[in-house]
Amino acid sequence: AKAIGKNNYHYYTKSMRDAALKRMTLIADLRHAIDNDEFYIVYQPIINLHDQSITKAEALIRWRHPTRGLVGPDDFIPVAEETGLIIDISDWVFERVCRDVCLWRKTLCPTLQISINTSPTHYTDPERCITLWLEKMLINRTPPQAVLLEITESLLMDANKSISTKLFQFRQAGVDIALDDFGTGYSSISYLKRYPTDFLKIDKSFVHSMTEVSNDKVLCEAIIVMAKKLGIKVVAEGIETQEQYHILQSMGCDYGQGYLFAKPLEHQAFNALLEQQKAT
Ligand code: C2E
Ligand code: CA
Ligand code: CA
Ligand code: CA
Repeated sequence: AKAIGKNNYHYYTKSMRDAALKRMTLIADLRHAIDNDEFYIVYQPIINLHDQSITKAEALIRWRHPTRGLVGPDDFIPVAEETGLIIDISDWVFERVCRDVCLWRKTLCPTLQISINTSPTHYTDPERCITLWLEKMLINRTPPQAVLLEITESLLMDANKSISTKLFQFRQAGVDIALDDFGTGYSSISYLKRYPTDFLKIDKSFVHSMTEVSNDKVLCEAIIVMAKKLGIKVVAEGIETQEQYHILQSMGCDYGQGYLFAKPLEHQAFNALLEQQKAT
C-alpha cells in the first residue's frame, strides 16, 4: 500500500476494513446457523456409467441466510475451516446424512452410499476428532457401506501422518474413502501411496477442458488407466455435455456426476428420483 498515492491508500484501507467487517459478521452469523436451522443438504446423484444406475450421491451443504439469501459453500466453508467452526458443521452434516441414508436404504435403495466432504482440521483436532464418527455410526446403526468420506487433495498439502492413520481406521471399519479434486494438488500421485483410496474424483477442470485441450484428455485417460490398475474406482466430476459423457464412458470411467445428469437435489427431489428408479 505504501507505493499507492494518499487517496488510494485511503480507499485501500477502507475496503480492507469493509472486508474485515464482512468477515466478522459472517463468522458471527455462522455461529448461529446450526441453532437457527439455516443449513440444509442437497444430494447430487452419482451415475454408474456402466449401467446408468444411481446408488451413490454426494451430500453438499447449503446455507439459507436470513437476510443474505442462499450462501454457497465456497463462500463460507473456507471461513469455517479457519475458525474451527467446520467441526460443528461437519458433525451436523454427518448426522443428517446418516439419518437420511439409513431411511433411504430401508425404503428405496438398499445399496445407497452417500459421500460426505470432510475437512483436514477434523482429522487433526485432538478433542473432536473425526474418528468419533465411527462410534456414532455403531450407536445409530449406520452400516459403514452407507457413507463415504471425501477428502480434498489440495487440502492435504501439509500431508500428515495422523490424517492417513485416521483414514486407515475408517477404511478398516468398512468406510470407503475418496480423494476429491484429483489432479489439482501438487503431488496427486504420491497421495495415492500415502492415503488409503477406494475412489478418486477427477476434478471438473479436467473434464471441462478435455474437449478443448487434447493434453487434458490424455491426462484423464491416464488417470483412469492408472486407477484401474491400482484397483481404485473413478468418478468424473462436472460432466455437463454429452460429448464429455461419451468420451469418459469410452475411457472406462466408472462413475459420473454433473449437471448433464442432475443438479444437486433437495431432499424431496432426491427422494422422488429414488422412487422413480425403484419403480422402473
Ligand atoms: P466439491 O466437493 O468439489 O463439490 C462439487 C461441486 O461442483 C459442488 O459445488 C457442485 O454443486 C458442483 N457441480 C456439480 N456438478 C457440476 C457441473 O456439472 N458443473 C459445474 N460447474 N459444477 C458442478 P458446491 O455445492 O457449490 O460446493 C463447493 C465446494 O464446497 C465443494 O466442492 C466442497 O469442497 C465444499 N463443500 C460443499 N459441501 C460441503 C460440506 O458439507 N462440508 C465440507 N467440508 N465442504 C463442503
Ligand atoms: Ca466433494
Ligand atoms: Ca470435487
Ligand atoms: Ca472442490
